[in-house]
Amino acid sequence: MDRTFLEELNKRRTFGIISHPDAGKTTLTEKLLMFGGAIQMAGAVKAKRAGRYATSDWMTIEKERGISVTTSVMKFNYNGFEVNLLDTPGHQDFSEDTYRVLTAVDSALMVIDSAKGVEPQTEKLMEVCRMRNTPIMTFINKLDRDGLSPLDILADIEEKLQIECAPLSWPIGMGKRFRGVYNLYHRQLHLFTAGGQTRHQEGVLITDLADPRVDEMLDSQAGELRDDVELLEGAANPFELDQYLKGSQTPVFFGSAINNFGVRELLDAFVEMAPPPKARATTTRMVSPEEPAFSGFAFKIQANMDPAHRDRIAFVRICSGKFTRGMKVFQTRVGKPVTLSNATIFMAQDRTHVDEAYPGDIIGIHNHGTISIGDSFFEKERLSFTGIPNFAPDHFRRVRLENPLKAKQLLKGLTQLAEEGAVQFFRPMSGNSYILGAVGVLQFDVTMARLKAEYGVDAAYEPVTFAAARWVTSDDRKQLEAFEKDMYASLAHDSQGKLAYLASSLWRLENAMEEWPGIDFHKTRELA
Ligand code: GDP
Repeated sequence: MDRTFLEELNKRRTFGIISHPDAGKTTLTEKLLMFGGAIQMAGAVKAKRAGRYATSDWMTIEKERGISVTTSVMKFNYNGFEVNLLDTPGHQDFSEDTYRVLTAVDSALMVIDSAKGVEPQTEKLMEVCRMRNTPIMTFINKLDRDGLSPLDILADIEEKLQIECAPLSWPIGMGKRFRGVYNLYHRQLHLFTAGGQTRHQEGVLITDLADPRVDEMLDSQAGELRDDVELLEGAANPFELDQYLKGSQTPVFFGSAINNFGVRELLDAFVEMAPPPKARATTTRMVSPEEPAFSGFAFKIQANMDPAHRDRIAFVRICSGKFTRGMKVFQTRVGKPVTLSNATIFMAQDRTHVDEAYPGDIIGIHNHGTISIGDSFFEKERLSFTGIPNFAPDHFRRVRLENPLKAKQLLKGLTQLAEEGAVQFFRPMSGNSYILGAVGVLQFDVTMARLKAEYGVDAAYEPVTFAAARWVTSDDRKQLEAFEKDMYASLAHDSQGKLAYLASSLWRLENAMEEWPGIDFHKTRELA
């Protein structure tokens, strides 16, 4: 493999941010982009923040595709590294989208509010990271406010997220007494001045905390810092790069995103320690990023809201080889070659002048519904990447079509929305209805609005008594046949024709699982 290819590959850092709403993800993203010189993007991130909560706002924002498409992938250059930050939707109703974005990253950054510790959404996202042993770096935010003690936060993370913490920086006080952070790794002191400065202050190099300058700078808090550091040196987990890369230890940094404090340190450590693109599994073998032949998979699809142009952008993560515009690749699910001429390469500053991209980069492919989430693209072989999941929905609704003549349009719309991952649908084996399934209820409103706007279908949804869905398979054909016969009334096929069991209560689900030990009930389904 030629040297420039390997150099390009090794300087890629592709990651996503996981956090509970309000922890400071948007603020941190803006600061990271500023360091990366992509300042013009910061406004776009802000614009999105306004519409986080209400459906109507979400729809309006989504209409401004310009914003949401560009903020889906934020690429910037920092210290010679090519950083791809993939946006994860903040609203928990779109968490399925977030889960899938996390399949396309090589590492994650976890933001935690120092006053709140680990929150529910963080826990869920962490579960997804654990499925792939994604390395996670942690930023404890809002130290300019009074919060939990740093040791309590670390204990909370270790207990709730079952991951070892290795603090690489340590805060000196908090709230009004917040004086800065001591970098345990480089043994440097960074003093804090409030006020949202964009420039980072140079640290004061202190190799020995006994240095009298520490007392000059920190007065009475110098003693506290010395005690803390002594305690940490005895009791804290030492940072181990391989443990971090395996996903079993998280290096922890403290700071205040809004004041831009501690962000630079975090970014410096991130580009240095976070992994470059990793090998990925297919149904038959691992694909190394160093392989010269191009490969990639679609992890997100975004539709154009303008009904006149029903085109969609598929976001494809490059897994191996070099992408060049106009190249021919094989789309495994469809079994056909496609020419990638209509591709956008996401580069924050210089989008138009780039004709090639490398593993870790994301390309956007315009298409008219020919690409589904989970689709694999290979230059030479016909392989399928694994690990891009559909999650069993928690919420269900029955679709009511207002105009029966639109049945065909309804099916088309629902199929495309399901391919995009916007919603799931099931067709019960008995009857002729459509059951929608979603991880978050807001997805139903968005589905109805989009059916109308993009497919001209007036539909409504009504409650239905389902509480859980599981995809079912079995190695035992006879068992499966018996199960199908017996459970006929509770079985359905999803948009890809896969068999699913819809249970009216969790209790019933448990019962069925006990009664049918030869049947496998799956909470996730791999898309391929
Ligand atoms: P997101 O929901 O995780 O994207 O959070 P945002 O970045 O929108 O931040 C949520 C709120 O916390 C906003 O009002 C921010 O101004 C505020 N915030 C973010 N970082 C800090 C910080 O370091 N200190 C304080 N005091 N507030 C912060």
